[in-house]
Amino acid sequence: MARIHDPFDEWISEEGESDADDSPAPHFIDPELLEAKCEDCVCGVCLGVMQKPASGCREGHSFCRACLTKALRKQRRCPTCRQHISWTSDLVPNRTAENIIATMKLRCEGSEAARPSAAKRARLAPAASLTAEALKNDLQQRGLATSGNKPEQAARLEEDRKKDAGCRWRGRVGELSAHRDECAWEEVKCPHKGCMESPLRMDLPEHEAICGHRQVACSYCFRCMARHSLVAHQRGGCVYGQVACPCPGCDALFFRKDIDAHFKANHSGPGR
Ligand SMILES: [Zn+2]
Ligand SMILES: [Zn+2]
Ligand SMILES: [Zn+2]
Ligand SMILES: [Zn+2]
Ligand SMILES: [Zn+2]
Ligand SMILES: [Zn+2]
Repeated sequence: MARIHDPFDEWISEEGESDADDSPAPHFIDPELLEAKCEDCVCGVCLGVMQKPASGCREGHSFCRACLTKALRKQRRCPTCRQHISWTSDLVPNRTAENIIATMKLRCEGSEAARPSAAKRARLAPAASLTAEALKNDLQQRGLATSGNKPEQAARLEEDRKKDAGCRWRGRVGELSAHRDECAWEEVKCPHKGCMESPLRMDLPEHEAICGHRQVACSYCFRCMARHSLVAHQRGGCVYGQVACPCPGCDALFFRKDIDAHFKANHSGPGR
């Protein structure tokens, strides 16, 4: 196998080191999102639009490179014609298909039913009512306001958001991943540790405002903790939490850490 240089070789060796079934799958692109139907653009393994198409058999059957590599780990045969393929280093990139696919027009996944329901959005971000100005500022803060995000566009986004209208983006397959990095209608993982929710990118600030996993500081002892444990902490665990003396007739208020001192000083009669 004396191949001179293949830009994919590096990629393959990285792949080879990773755990067999854990290869980084490219983000699935539903062929339904393409403006023109294209059966030859569909990967026979994942049934998505082929990404980095590659072929290993003499028939030239192409699949996403990641899909084919994964399939070959299980069985060294072309998934279509069953011809033997010795190893992934024999894979040949199908650049023609790749270039054609990259220029095909499609719409964004966020325009479709694939996005979360209005009910889910309401649960994750109950106060989805940022004003256009606040939304713009917010997008700017998170680096999402591209140069094209003019006030009227922010206002339109706000309108779309109220109507749950979905993403209006139309572009080419090759531009999709850049769009996904900033699409307001894409689900993103909540960054707070322990939270499993994935609100829409535009709903994230509101979700964070109510997220129980957000770290907050106790206003008495300044200890940092997840927001959902703060109430229990201040009621029961915080040494600086204020408590009222439980003795009848005594209306003293003191920090929980001072309870012993208070009892010694005020209620140290027999039996206590
Ligand atoms: Zn595939
Ligand atoms: Zn084949
Ligand atoms: Zn989008
Ligand atoms: Zn969260
Ligand atoms: Zn505390
Ligand atoms: Zn007391």
